[in-house]
Order: sequence, then structure tokens, then C-alpha cells
Amino acid sequence: MNLEEKKKKLKEITKRVANCKKCPLYKNTTQSVPGEGNPQAEVMFIGEGPGYWEDQQGRPFVGRAGKLLDNLLQLIKLPRKSIFITNIVKHRPPGNRDPLPQEIEACREFLDAQIEIINPKIIITLGRFSLNKFLPGEFISKIHGQARFVEFGGRKKVVIPMYHPAAALRNEGIMKELKSDFQKISKFLESFSFKEEDKEKETDKQLSFL
Ligand code: SF4
Repeated sequence: MNLEEKKKKLKEITKRVANCKKCPLYKNTTQSVPGEGNPQAEVMFIGEGPGYWEDQQGRPFVGRAGKLLDNLLQLIKLPRKSIFITNIVKHRPPGNRDPLPQEIEACREFLDAQIEIINPKIIITLGRFSLNKFLPGEFISKIHGQARFVEFGGRKKVVIPMYHPAAALRNEGIMKELKSDFQKISKFLESFSFKEEDKEKETDKQLSFL
């Protein structure tokens, strides 16, 4: 899919999300937050759901957690405009509560379509809800910062689970872990070949950059 096709398809998703009433989350929100970034991103970040500022601005990760994410990206010299950032659910859960399983399921088609269109090499999950999408039953405290291969939509993907920046803002220990995990992204981008044949060979192999 070329760049123009990707842009067109992503715009279609944005429109569908803006008009979506598949779950009750759209009620009492200011607007939808479909996600944003480079349609050809090699790295895609997936968080949980929009918070207050995201709901106000219609953009993902623009509040305090977003500022931290920006700082972490600067730390590893990965420009925000080079990546794509989105969430598991595209409307803000009331009072920033956790999204419910039925809401995540209702919203799944939009995220799945974004992943298919962008086709990133690396997916960074931020927090336990996006972790559970790709690696159900795993615990973030055990596998954060480790790269894993998963099959998604018939394609092999590298998934690196990380703590959510909001959790790091509440806990200094998690902040340290998150910074350390971020350093591994650039190492990973530098050191691993993403040729299709290499991906095949590496299937099911767990990679750790500790
Ligand atoms: S959260 Fe997702 S499924 Fe629910 S209304 Fe918004 S776009 Fe639709």
C-alpha cells in the first residue's frame, strides 16, 4: 500500500471513529481520539484510552503522560512525527476508569485496521490493556522491556511491552524501568534485521535486551 492509500484509509477510520456509537464511551466525551502519526511508521505505540487533555484536544498523549512520552522519545532521538500513537479505545472512559472488556472488543476493529494499514515493524504496548491484546495472560511486571514475536493479522510483529507513562508518573521505580526500557527501542531498531525471511526464522523466539 503506498503512502496516499494509507493516508486515505486512515482518514476513513478517523471519520468512522468520530461517528461511532458501538459502545457507550462516546457519550459525555468532547470528541474522539483516533490516534495520529506517520502512516508509514516503523514503530507504533498503543496506550489505553484518552484522558482529560486528549479528550479536549482530540489528540493522543498530550497531557502529563504525553509530555513524559515526548521526553522519552527525545531521549532515544526518535521523533514523535516518525511514529504512530493510538489507544485501545478511542473515546475517553468516564473519570479515566479502565476500559471494560466489551468496550475494548467494540473498538477492536479500528485498532486492528490501523495496525494493518500502517504495518509497523515494532509495536510498543503501554500498559496492561494493550499488552493483553497481543500477549494475553502475561504480566507487565515480568516481561516489560522484552521483545517478543507475535502473529497478528497473518503477519509477524515484534511487540515490546512497557509500563504506561501515567504509571511511571506515580512511581519512581516504574519511571526508572520505563527509561531503561526505552533505551532498548533504539538498540532494537539498530541491531535487528526486519527482512521477512529473518522474521520467519525468528518466530517464537523471545528476544531480550537486558
Ligand atoms: S470507544 Fe471505540 S467502539 Fe466505543 S464509541 Fe468510541 S470509537 Fe466506538
